[in-house]
Amino acid sequence: MGQSDPGHPLHPVVGKFDRTGTLEAVTVSSGDPDVHASRSAQLFERADLVIPGGVNSPVRAFHSVGGTPRFIKEASGYTLTDVDGNDYVDLICSWGPMILGHAHPAVVEAVQKAAATGLSFGAPTEGEIELAEEIVRRVAPVEKVRLVNSGTEATMSAVRLARGFTGRTKILKFSGCYHGHVDALLADAGSGLATFGLPTSPGVTGAQAEDTIVVPYNDLDAVAQAFAANEGRIACVITEAAAGNMGAVAPQPGFNEGLRTLTRDNGALLIMDEVMTGFRVSSAGWYGLDGVAGDLYTFGKVMSGGLPAAAFGGRADVMAHLAPAGPVYQAGTLSGNPVAVAAGLASLRAADQGVYDALERNSATLRTLLSDALTAESVPHRVQTAGTMLSVFFSEDPVTNYDEAKAAQTWRFPAFFHGLLSRGVYPPPSAFEAWFVSAAMDDKAFSIIADALPHAAKAAAAAVRP
Ligand SMILES: *Cc1c(COP(=O)(O)O)cnc(C)c1O
Repeated sequence: MGQSDPGHPLHPVVGKFDRTGTLEAVTVSSGDPDVHASRSAQLFERADLVIPGGVNSPVRAFHSVGGTPRFIKEASGYTLTDVDGNDYVDLICSWGPMILGHAHPAVVEAVQKAAATGLSFGAPTEGEIELAEEIVRRVAPVEKVRLVNSGTEATMSAVRLARGFTGRTKILKFSGCYHGHVDALLADAGSGLATFGLPTSPGVTGAQAEDTIVVPYNDLDAVAQAFAANEGRIACVITEAAAGNMGAVAPQPGFNEGLRTLTRDNGALLIMDEVMTGFRVSSAGWYGLDGVAGDLYTFGKVMSGGLPAAAFGGRADVMAHLAPAGPVYQAGTLSGNPVAVAAGLASLRAADQGVYDALERNSATLRTLLSDALTAESVPHRVQTAGTMLSVFFSEDPVTNYDEAKAAQTWRFPAFFHGLLSRGVYPPPSAFEAWFVSAAMDDKAFSIIADALPHAAKAAAAAVRP
């Protein structure tokens, strides 16, 4: 049931952000029948009374696809179940973490055990060493690790450390890359800001934005020019090791290597943000695929096992500048929380080569199904991959940067999305997000996807340019 289906009632959507971030009332055909009566709709109304926009992270609100966000009751393996009892094959995996599928027995057991012996001590535990050792063992350029609570905290801390280490002020990031909602990193960011078309956020001061240089992704000349124009002033380049927050856009051959050379030659640090790619695209993350060593790394998502845990780490001499070993301050009441650490450690320990092989297979199968269905309806598209992450761009040409991602026929996406959702498949509710498979997916999951896709592809074909 796509947007093009005649006879659907128009569903009022709570609101949509305009470019300044103001919420304006709009009405769109959501292709989302019966939502008025659903328990999800009732909960969304109730949530909106006490939670801004009804959600605790913007993209969850379905603003860019229309319709009612599904409130989830429970999940197991690849299946999400909403409060109305509808099942969905989950292609978001909590935006990355759940590579093993939901409620994996080993992870649940580890969490239950940890919880039963105390939730938080504010003192060191052996589990923190084990998780740090696991990360250091997997990613060779990471010699020391500090645990934090979110990817945002990891990138914020890594940037502070880079500035403290180099004594420089400016940082360079790429348009369409998202590094969490750190003030200085919100400029031209992907993920939710891309979804809502926001160049940055009110509340970020001129001073914070001024020290951030933004250049196009996959453009080494622009990076070289920025270094030339800001000699001795750039503390670090921060990049997604492979971009996933403008949709999946892999670095072109030589791009990460070029960043390595330019940063080294100019005395700046290279921060590889592997919050999304880390421990998903290979056992050693994107580093395991291209072998380009950053000075600092950020991790989150998969290493959390689904609880709030993240990390940053890297070269021992740089990490030695962190308090209490050095002067750069960084701290956290709940950092290294024993329950989150137990979940992360159990997830990483369960993620053996068999899991990574399954992720490869499942990603390849999904890619073929998507492409075949859209080809059958003559919808212009590219299913792009970055390792096992993928996304659908409604574009004839490959997408290598944010401008090209925005130039795609994103107006086809809401119809495509609802075509899938209404038939039990849950992709990310935005044209600018990566899709995530889990190792839990089986033939049944793919047959549900294969059954849903022709309808979704028809809806995408029939969508009209606004
Ligand atoms: C998700 C993400 C972040 C932010 O992590 P949070 O845990 O949501 O704060 C940072 N960088 C990248 C590349 C991400 O994908």
